[in-house]
Amino acid sequence: MKKFFYRCNNCNHISEYTNLIGACPQCGGEWLDPLYNLEETAQIWDKELFQRDHTIWRYWELLPLLDKANIVSLGEGWTPLLQVENMGAMLGNRHIFVKDERQGPTASFKDRQASLAISAMKEADIREAVVASTGNVAISYSAYCARSGIKLWAFLDSNVPHEKMREVTLYGTEVIKVSSSYDMTKQIAAKFADYRHLFLDKGIKSLIAREAMKTLAFEIAEQLGRIRGTRWAAPDWYIQAVSGGMGPIGVWRGFKDLYDMKLIDKIPKIAIIQTEGCAPMVNSFHKGLETAEPVQNPTSVINVLATGNPGPAYPFLRNLVRQHGGAFVKVNDQESFRLMRVMAQLEGLSMEPAAAVACAGLVKLMQEQIVSPTETVVVNASGHTFPIEKQILENEIVKRHTRVQNIEGDVVENMEPGAVSIRQEGLLNALKRLDERVQSIAIIEDEPDARLLLRRILQYERKYKIYEAPDGATGMALIQSKKPDLVLLDLMMPEVDGFTVLDTMKANEQLRDIPVIVITAKDLTSQDYQRLSGRIESLLQKGEFMEDQLVESISDVLK
Ligand SMILES: *Cc1c(COP(=O)(O)O)cnc(C)c1O
Ligand SMILES: [Zn+2]
Repeated sequence: MKKFFYRCNNCNHISEYTNLIGACPQCGGEWLDPLYNLEETAQIWDKELFQRDHTIWRYWELLPLLDKANIVSLGEGWTPLLQVENMGAMLGNRHIFVKDERQGPTASFKDRQASLAISAMKEADIREAVVASTGNVAISYSAYCARSGIKLWAFLDSNVPHEKMREVTLYGTEVIKVSSSYDMTKQIAAKFADYRHLFLDKGIKSLIAREAMKTLAFEIAEQLGRIRGTRWAAPDWYIQAVSGGMGPIGVWRGFKDLYDMKLIDKIPKIAIIQTEGCAPMVNSFHKGLETAEPVQNPTSVINVLATGNPGPAYPFLRNLVRQHGGAFVKVNDQESFRLMRVMAQLEGLSMEPAAAVACAGLVKLMQEQIVSPTETVVVNASGHTFPIEKQILENEIVKRHTRVQNIEGDVVENMEPGAVSIRQEGLLNALKRLDERVQSIAIIEDEPDARLLLRRILQYERKYKIYEAPDGATGMALIQSKKPDLVLLDLMMPEVDGFTVLDTMKANEQLRDIPVIVITAKDLTSQDYQRLSGRIESLLQKGEFMEDQLVESISDVLK
């Protein structure tokens, strides 16, 4: 178990870190930063780092998770740092590198955030979570949630491309499509989580997301060091297409850690690139504003970058750029699409439009001589163009289990300029509509893995509410209090076994008619069969049925 502290960015209060701490106990401030033992970590890394796994978890000491046993990984991180020589020749700078984040498990740099966020949820024993997304977070969280058995509700704004939405549903996530802007979608997701008492992922507001992005800086410095034949090296510039600002803030912090550990001798300048159709940070910076002027209706077609209201990320980044150098630049969609083609044709890198925005930004920075020809530049290629398997997947997934629900983000413009509120009544109705009639299932099973597997299979069917009990006695109490519509029962459990649970149920007039499906690993004797005969709906042998058979047996019984 790791032990470390955090500091509140608002009042400087320091306390020991507990998992998923949301706000400062002193002032309620949400912006918390972890404090690690950097000196000790520098010594450990000096001896051990080279022999560790090539994932973000090689930097374990500086990541906010308490127990390694909770890591949920798909091999994220340690993406290649590629020199782009043709692009470099064209722009007259021979030191341009691309950090190829397309090569993550779900093809965007959100995999770093997802791996850490889902691991932290697992550590906090969270079983169901809500996230708002412009696409890539939902895809990545869906993959990691599927892997760890957490049920996910993804709220996507209506501009998320169809292909990305389909990818999210493939993982079994519940998708709520909100016909409004991303900022409004975030608010609606928060209301839904509140209404359902579910865990809400707070994105950039949580220290987890920012800390995850640090690993980009660690890797860049380690990889550039290898190229230069030193242990670590910092580039002069880090360039990224920015929406909420989690990437640049995290990357800055990563380089700052390395600097404080005396592993690098400078902190790179950060270039924030936004699209003209949604450039609240760039515009506010050039107007000299201390807080960002939100963009109400983003007009860029590049939906991934649709954060119109950057909140506290903007003043933070503004300070960084003013103190340490850097730039705020905007480019238009057309330039970005052109760079998409250029990067594919000159370098063999096919990136999604949002990633090409960073490349268009680099071109502009070179042309305006903000970046000099001798400076080393790292551009984040943050995501891949999305593979399209339309013909195959369309019918199979989207039509068979339609999980995409629409709700209207009923927006009312107030008199005050800039203020937007949701018509409460309409929203509440929309949220209630998501609560269709559900049936409840109690799983009584002593093996945690088997229980998790059953829950995982069943939670993808929206219509089931799931209760679990780890032994016969708890199971009986659960059946008595919840009166579920169906019981999934294991036979072999210590103390009160499944047979006893069944006997107790049948002896109780109120519980006698609740259907039971037995799932067992026991080789049944003829005496066992006799005890079950006529009293259960069906019997499934562990390890011998596939998930669709289970779902089918259940829906037959509950019909
Ligand atoms: C999320 C995302 C961005 C913007 O990320 P920030 O939160 O602003 O750092 C850029 N490109 C891609 C591909 C993304 O998925
Ligand atoms: Zn505080």
